[in-house]
Amino acid sequence: MSQNEHRTIIVGGGMAGLTAAAYLSRAGHNVLLLEKNKECGGLLSSFHRDGFTFDAGARSILNSGIIQPMLNELGIELELLDSPVSIGVENDIISLDSETSLDDYKGLLDRLYPESVNDVDKIISKIEGIIKDMAILYGIDNPNFRDLKSDRNYLIKELLPWLGRFIFTLYRMNRKNEPVESYLGKLSSNQSLIDIIAQHFFKMTPTFFALGYFYAYNDYRYPRGGTGELPKAMVQKIIEWDGRIQTGTEITEVNLSEKKVIDRDGNMYSFDSLIWSADLKTLYRILDIHDLDEKVTRKILKQKELLLSKRGCDSVYSMYIGVDMPLESFNSISNGHFFYTPSKKGLGEVHKSELNSLIEDFETKSREEILRWLDEYCQLTTYEISIPAFRDPALAPEGKTGLIISMLFEYDLMKRIKDANWYEEFRIEIENRMLDTLSNSVYPGLKEKVIFQSSSTPLSIATIAGSSEGAIVGWSYESPVPVVHNLRKIASSAKTPIPNVYQAGQWAYSPAGIPTAILTGWYAARNSIKSKK
Ligand SMILES: Cc1cc2nc3c(=O)[nH]c(=O)nc-3n(C[C@H](O)[C@H](O)[C@H](O)COP(=O)(O)OP(=O)(O)OC[C@H]3O[C@@H](n4cnc5c(N)ncnc54)[C@H](O)[C@@H]3O)c2cc1C
Repeated sequence: MSQNEHRTIIVGGGMAGLTAAAYLSRAGHNVLLLEKNKECGGLLSSFHRDGFTFDAGARSILNSGIIQPMLNELGIELELLDSPVSIGVENDIISLDSETSLDDYKGLLDRLYPESVNDVDKIISKIEGIIKDMAILYGIDNPNFRDLKSDRNYLIKELLPWLGRFIFTLYRMNRKNEPVESYLGKLSSNQSLIDIIAQHFFKMTPTFFALGYFYAYNDYRYPRGGTGELPKAMVQKIIEWDGRIQTGTEITEVNLSEKKVIDRDGNMYSFDSLIWSADLKTLYRILDIHDLDEKVTRKILKQKELLLSKRGCDSVYSMYIGVDMPLESFNSISNGHFFYTPSKKGLGEVHKSELNSLIEDFETKSREEILRWLDEYCQLTTYEISIPAFRDPALAPEGKTGLIISMLFEYDLMKRIKDANWYEEFRIEIENRMLDTLSNSVYPGLKEKVIFQSSSTPLSIATIAGSSEGAIVGWSYESPVPVVHNLRKIASSAKTPIPNVYQAGQWAYSPAGIPTAILTGWYAARNSIKSKK
């Protein structure tokens, strides 16, 4: 056993841990970041294959008044390219990169559901209201990433006038926390129309967050070189500021009375404060709480019981393909970030009761029944398609195109399939159906032009990022989330009932994603700095 003395230890090198490490090391603190994988980035990373670059996590990044200001503040030079979005259903595809995007979306829905034009009107007017609020929310640089003391211009001309509007926006935002499916259900009884909008999002996503995407679609950015360039640039800065990063180090025990974390190989690392930037269920499972004060122990055990009773949110199935077709074959169809639904029918019960019945009664279901369900799911679901070389042509060889095609996919079903020993076969069944569906709809002839294909499942996400239930944005919305979920209280999201331990990342605040991972990382760093003062 080796033993190293360090003051702030950060566990988890995703965007949250990297943000905390960057701000702490910039402030001159003694920082050691421990990451279990060979590289940092977590759910934001890119990989290369045969001259193609693919993004393994988020396909592009919402600026949200956070990313660019943070890069400026940290002095990180990383070019963020525009990343326009398209939405398509069947043969009708629109681009969402102009002032008239919402009118175009209304036109799309009117053409698909002429029997429901009045409902479409109602829905669009609600989205319009939410877009206005989102424009306020994300309309200025987040003040955490501006130096208010030296930047009087920003403080007086932007921040102060904005604050009043922001408070009203928060109020309206909190009134739209209802799940998007039921919110839309009050505006229309056309289930296909509701599904075609709601199935883009995780189950029971709060309305404001879901419909706010119609603003966010115009706010997506793509780092030149791939999304993984952002964590890489953060790593460089942390090292420049003498922060230490140790990869290939999985923490398997946190000993609170001795203020030490212990890795899989038995190495111990002492801390004054600890920032946990990985899955919170893991933290509470590996906590050693002996010799702690009784009151503190009770609080920790209560939090442990709460967190372990909750689940991670939806997961995704992603396929990466290299295609022997030039970029031009695809850019006449959509932008590089494309949400495509092959049928206007909508998922209906396929992704609800039918899926639940497959999972609950798995032992009684034949493979044929499961594959029949899969057929239907692949034909009706919404695909998120990303073409990295549309943003940066260097990301695919000349004359060829790389595509990342993903769909929401249930962790529990994949787990049951794995336990029943037909995981690899099932993956092939899924890949074939995804390719067939898209070849028979938006990309005729695609399947014949595939040079190589590979995929990642909810189980891969659970293993690689250590993310419960393969969750890609933290806690499930299907039951009350066990962490702060009100923007007004986000500053307290980094606190835990555990002495000297802070939390950050997608498990610390809900709804989550890259911007909130960064924000919570920033708050955790601030708390840790304050605690030392
Ligand atoms: C396909 C996909 C699409 C997405 N799309 C979007 C999007 O459009 N917009 C958006 O905002 N977000 C999106 N996200 C979500 C976003 O990527 C994540 O919410 C965010 O990156 C989470 O960052 P994090 O630092 O909180 O956690 P993570 O990235 O999960 O980082 C946690 C890190 O901790 C490490 N770790 C875990 N356990 C241990 C341990 N015991 N010891 C040491 N290290 C450990 C992991 O290896 C990992 O590197 C998407 C994610 C995916 C996968």
